[in-house]
Amino acid sequence: MLTDYHLHLRSDALEASAAEHFTPANAQRYRDAARARGIEELGVSEHVYRFAQALEVWRHPFWVQQANDDLDAYCAFVREQTDLRLGIEADFVPGAEERLASLLDARDFDYVVGSVHFLSDGAVDMDDYSVWKTAADPEEVWERYFQTLGQAAASGLFDVLAHPDLVKVWGAQRPRPRGDLRRFYELALEGIAASGIAVEVSTAGLRKRAGEIYPAPAFLEMCVQAGAPVALSSDAHRPEDVGADYDRALELLGRAGVGELCVFDRRRRRMAAIAGAATEAQPSGRAARAPPTSAA
Ligand SMILES: [Zn+2]
Ligand SMILES: [Zn+2]
Repeated sequence: MLTDYHLHLRSDALEASAAEHFTPANAQRYRDAARARGIEELGVSEHVYRFAQALEVWRHPFWVQQANDDLDAYCAFVREQTDLRLGIEADFVPGAEERLASLLDARDFDYVVGSVHFLSDGAVDMDDYSVWKTAADPEEVWERYFQTLGQAAASGLFDVLAHPDLVKVWGAQRPRPRGDLRRFYELALEGIAASGIAVEVSTAGLRKRAGEIYPAPAFLEMCVQAGAPVALSSDAHRPEDVGADYDRALELLGRAGVGELCVFDRRRRRMAAIAGAATEAQPSGRAARAPPTSAA
């Protein structure tokens, strides 16, 4: 089976209101798009910082501007008016672990997607508050990014590590460090391996200037070798992008020997075989150990 767990029911624009987008009809548009692409397991993961309760966790000026909606109304909407899994995309904010844990534990999410969008106050993937304005050296940004990613994994706050090499989002617009990038991936690997967190394979990078799936093949291989399970997502912000470019994601997964995907229910994880969905590139290794009954 296929999954798409990192979905937003609205765009990132401030004017994209909850009232307009958190409706059964809009959820159905995502469900219909998923069905057309053969995706059964669907979950929504709105940004935590769009909700007023997030200000209990962090008061970054960007969050203060964005935090307009009610988190419990969102949870009730997804549970009561849709057939989607209830998730959330929550930023890792060093030093705010306990406050974030309180926010998350008070609600019955199926899963929590953990993201690193900020390094201290500097944004990795936005022009506003950009970390790149003050950082002269891409080596420094990449190093800090992957160290923080490892801390996010090790925090135990999250079920899935989102867009694991988001730092490449700008493509050629921001200089990349030279040489073999595995020296950066290495910085996050211990946290990933020790925590047992799932690593997201996200096709969103293909729709950004990076023009690549997150994570890079070498990083995915390292994660898989370290025993990390994989969650597959598109990070769609509109129905048209649900399951976008999954043919390319499945090819990447096949090459990495990944034959199973994570499925979540009330923050419990099980593995389901991709088998049947994959068209070519027969998975091996991990797939061979997958129980045949999980191909539901
Ligand atoms: Zn994100
Ligand atoms: Zn997202």
